[in-house]
Amino acid sequence: MNPIFAGLPTTIFEVMSSLARETGAINLGQGFPDDAGPEDIRRQAADAVVNGSNQYPPMLGVAELRQAIADHYRRFQGVSLDWEREVMVTSGGTEALAAALLALVQPGDEVVLIQPMYDAYLPLVRLAGGVPRFVNLTPPDWRLTEANLAAAFTPRTKLVVLNNPLNPSGTVFTREELELLARFVARSGARVVSDEVWEHLTFDNRRHVSVLALPELRDRAVKIGSAGKMFSLTGWKVGLVCAAPELLKVMGKAHQFLTFTTAPNLQMAVAFGLAKDEKYFDDLRQGLAAKRDRFAKGLIAAGYKPLASEGTYFINVDLAALGETDDVAFCQRLVREAGVAAIPVSAFYAEKPVTTVARFCFAKKDETLDAAIERMAAYARAATS
Ligand code: PMP
Repeated sequence: MNPIFAGLPTTIFEVMSSLARETGAINLGQGFPDDAGPEDIRRQAADAVVNGSNQYPPMLGVAELRQAIADHYRRFQGVSLDWEREVMVTSGGTEALAAALLALVQPGDEVVLIQPMYDAYLPLVRLAGGVPRFVNLTPPDWRLTEANLAAAFTPRTKLVVLNNPLNPSGTVFTREELELLARFVARSGARVVSDEVWEHLTFDNRRHVSVLALPELRDRAVKIGSAGKMFSLTGWKVGLVCAAPELLKVMGKAHQFLTFTTAPNLQMAVAFGLAKDEKYFDDLRQGLAAKRDRFAKGLIAAGYKPLASEGTYFINVDLAALGETDDVAFCQRLVREAGVAAIPVSAFYAEKPVTTVARFCFAKKDETLDAAIERMAAYARAATS
């Protein structure tokens, strides 16, 4: 069997979720909202199942959705795309990542990965034969700097995988940071795979800057989006891929043997969703920012030290402030003794992990967040008494 997969442990998300099920804990580990999602978009999908086509759609995605993707990014991110040659639909951001990495990495290529990182990146880079080089971001700010980029880039760097906004840290990279990255990319003639699935979830008036909006990266970057995150429908798995024709063409060849297509009805409903006005996306952002604030306030009152969350569904707690030295042990105790599941951030590093941060998902009903805070407050009281 392939050791890349045979040697992988069960993901921490599954470990914590099954512990949460076993113990009846409130699950703030895995990142998904606990509401049903926008009814109008779900009705569009239902209608497309009953009245629309259920046969293989075009390999690159239905024309309606590819046009809607190009229109959406023109409106929201100032990116101009040729929908016929620069846009592809995949089965989730995950398939888009697989298609991009399998298509763009050759055996022996150095690939820069920015830690903490989403767990799919490293096995896919290894599968493609890439040689990982890590940029280490550290709390409390998790910023990209000249020094941490210089430690990973070499003249042999062929690709960089960027995640912006960054899961699990909740960092939204600024235009200046992206320009700094672009200088390193240009120096080594590399390409960028930019995982922007959290693009609409940026808080406090921060605006997402896509790699494709930077002229230096426009033709050397692949942008990946996910309808699941934009519409709070994480099970839908509709991925949005944009890149210059030369890159998209090769990724299309990988996509044809990964899944070939994605359910046409969901594609039609996502096209409807992408055409929504600014207000839908503002409300989404504001609704989540309010949840973040409610949860952070509760954490502070309960004696925990939350770190800043600039975007995503996640907020982190600084465990060093509690005198903790091991985030895995803390999360194991928290789920068993407090009844709240979180994710240790060390799980997002392949080497030299930061081990004193735990990630909590706040995309939950207010009463769920309040109940979690109550349990964590009782746990903190018991720990200090
Ligand atoms: N990239 C990142 C950074 C994510 O957080 C996620 C989902 N949690 C994905 C990719 C996967 O997206 P999808 O569910 O559309 O496959």
